[in-house]
Amino acid sequence: MTFNQPLGGNEMPRFGGIATMMRLPEAESAAGLDACFVGVPLDIGASNRSGTRMGPRSIRSESCLLRPFNLATGAAPFESLQVADIGDVAINTFNLSDAVNRIKEAYNVILKNDVVPLTLGGDHTITYPVLQAIAAKHGPVALIHIDAHADVGDHMFGERIAHGTTFRRAFEEGLIQPELTFQIGLRGTGYSPDDFNWSRSKGFTVVPADECQGVSLAPLMQSIKEKIGERKVYISFDIDALDPSVAPGTGTPEFGGLTAYQGQQLVRCCRGLNIVGADVVEVSPPYDPSGNTSLMGANLLYEMLCVLPGVKYHNV
Ligand code: MN
Ligand code: MN
Repeated sequence: MTFNQPLGGNEMPRFGGIATMMRLPEAESAAGLDACFVGVPLDIGASNRSGTRMGPRSIRSESCLLRPFNLATGAAPFESLQVADIGDVAINTFNLSDAVNRIKEAYNVILKNDVVPLTLGGDHTITYPVLQAIAAKHGPVALIHIDAHADVGDHMFGERIAHGTTFRRAFEEGLIQPELTFQIGLRGTGYSPDDFNWSRSKGFTVVPADECQGVSLAPLMQSIKEKIGERKVYISFDIDALDPSVAPGTGTPEFGGLTAYQGQQLVRCCRGLNIVGADVVEVSPPYDPSGNTSLMGANLLYEMLCVLPGVKYHNV
């Protein structure tokens, strides 16, 4: 068995070649893969600034600097997992409900294989159809949702499907386990003092950004891991959980967010969980002149790969 390897910087300059995620081989399907990177270039579910349709392409481009070995954690994901980039879902950019159906169908096909999809978004609407497919295969999952926003609105401008309603739909359809749903990094302005209480009333755990400032998030994650135990879990990371000073390229920025390191730490602390899927969403390259937001998205997806079940670790 030989595992796919990212193309090294001594084989082709890092700025050269075709921009697949981490310079991995491209595959036509998820057959034979343990994990796959897949893009969903959707932005017609966004309520404010658009641009996340360019997210997957930009994250791939900025991922060119990622090397295979994780010097912080010792993870060597390409020594024990078969990984490739399977390209993008062909969404319908003229029709959101059709796009959502197409995403669900595409993930149903991906999940016919024993593979963990790592998704490059796309606005947060995409997590709804992805969770539909995940739950169809795995049953209701535990959820670690990192975001400035709860995304539990009942509707947006009368529409039941949008990037701000994802987790209410997921709850209503029984796609997630509410008592094992953890929303981390919430903040900003709202419509009422009760904005985050809908989540709490359903059994979700809400960890506002205020409780994350200036502290290690390792103890929080340890308690979350103890609650989840062996159960299957999905991780959804909205890049706007991070402070706009480090991740400005997003559609609904909120100040007072997490640091870049805290974002990495949250994902690294997921090691040991039975992760069945993960995404990074809401990267909007038109608002990201330095590329830092896409770079952070690429790094978070790499850290997600590093904590998947079966990854080999070295001592560092
Ligand atoms: Mn969100
Ligand atoms: Mn958000």
